[in-house]
Amino acid sequence: GNYTTEEILRMAEEEDVEFIRLQFTDMFGTLKNIAITARELERALNHEYLIDCSFIAGISGEREPDMYLRPDLDTFSVLPWRPQQGKVARLLCDICRPDGTPYLGSSRYILKKTVDAALADGYTCYVDPECEFFLFHTDDNGMPTTVTHEQAGYLDISPLDLGENARRDMVLTLEDMGYEVESSHHETAPAQHEIDFKYGEVRKMADCLMTFKMAVRIIAKRHGLHATFMPKPKKEANGSGMHLHFSLFKNGRNIFQDQENPEKLSDEAYYFAGGLLAHSKEMALITNPLVNSYKRLVPGYEAPTKLTWTKNNQDSLVRISDPRGDETRIELRSPDPSANPYLVFAVCLAAGLDGIRKKLKPVEASDSLGFEEGQKGEDLGKLPENLKEAITLFEESSWIKEILGREFCEEYAAAKKKEWMRYTTEITKWELEEYLYRI
Ligand code: GLU
Ligand code: MG
Ligand code: MG
Repeated sequence: GNYTTEEILRMAEEEDVEFIRLQFTDMFGTLKNIAITARELERALNHEYLIDCSFIAGISGEREPDMYLRPDLDTFSVLPWRPQQGKVARLLCDICRPDGTPYLGSSRYILKKTVDAALADGYTCYVDPECEFFLFHTDDNGMPTTVTHEQAGYLDISPLDLGENARRDMVLTLEDMGYEVESSHHETAPAQHEIDFKYGEVRKMADCLMTFKMAVRIIAKRHGLHATFMPKPKKEANGSGMHLHFSLFKNGRNIFQDQENPEKLSDEAYYFAGGLLAHSKEMALITNPLVNSYKRLVPGYEAPTKLTWTKNNQDSLVRISDPRGDETRIELRSPDPSANPYLVFAVCLAAGLDGIRKKLKPVEASDSLGFEEGQKGEDLGKLPENLKEAITLFEESSWIKEILGREFCEEYAAAKKKEWMRYTTEITKWELEEYLYRI
């Protein structure tokens, strides 16, 4: 780690920190926190901070509602948007059971376990996420709307781009907190934006995305806007994706590259892509967790529907584009920003490594995909078309239970079934418009 307990205490003192937010992520990727006063920091750093988790999704152990928060010292940072006198800092925490052992259902722990297993085989996984989001107006009561006065599109500039000041603030804030932003731009749909980070180790990047979403929402609010990571807020426009560019290192070298090969790609690169393709259906409930997620995954909006890989087709699920060399990476285009990044990275890493283990070599195709001869052969078909289908594929998968844990999967699927039930029993505006007058 970068910091010791003593260093954190000293930094808090020197920086005039009055409050520390102990933050953690629930099963569905929502960031939660409890603010402690500076006086309590030492106790928290000694892992003695007990909280009641009865009402936290996926953590609510009925038998043992109390859990310890174990701060990850490397995540200490001052929140730039809080007062600069009597500052507020935060620490991301792991969740521990009363006996001090890690809580197995915590998504940050699930990712750690997957990362450690990969490391035991010598692999380190890096990811470069591209997170898209919308900035909408709020109404007179401060409630979010889908209204925007903007008409800008891909890479448009001011005065068409009305989000440039908000984006500037977001980037500077994240840089202030120690995250390296590479670029930001206006995306295809009006009021849609994207911020791209420099690649990093998956666990670090999951923490980064949690921080990113918190910061984006807060800064947007300061600009009088509402930021949303909802995958498809508007029917007629592109939805928001969270494309992930993966690379895999062994002995300090990117093993996806192979200078001997005419394509400059190693077998491992193809296998990793093959693993992502082979497992993408059963992991869709993790990468695309909402009813609304499946409204983004339709043809015509630069989002994938079929299990294909290509070099540079926007509609394919996996892309392996140039440049190569040390920068060789594999892009997965299905995930959306409503997903829990810890879980997404865990299943993606496990899927890629499974592809390497089984030597799954996918054949490039623009509309359907098979594996090379002697392998599975059949067309892998399409991503699930709705949440219900995703739940079924998830529940039928024994592979996903190995990665996330049986109990976790049961609780997760049960919650998703309730969400689907709430959705299907709703009488929608569409139904009334379609039927009320005519039928
Ligand atoms: N917004 C598109 C999506 O739903 C992607 C656009 C792009 O290629 O950046 O994934
Ligand atoms: Mg984009
Ligand atoms: Mg991309």
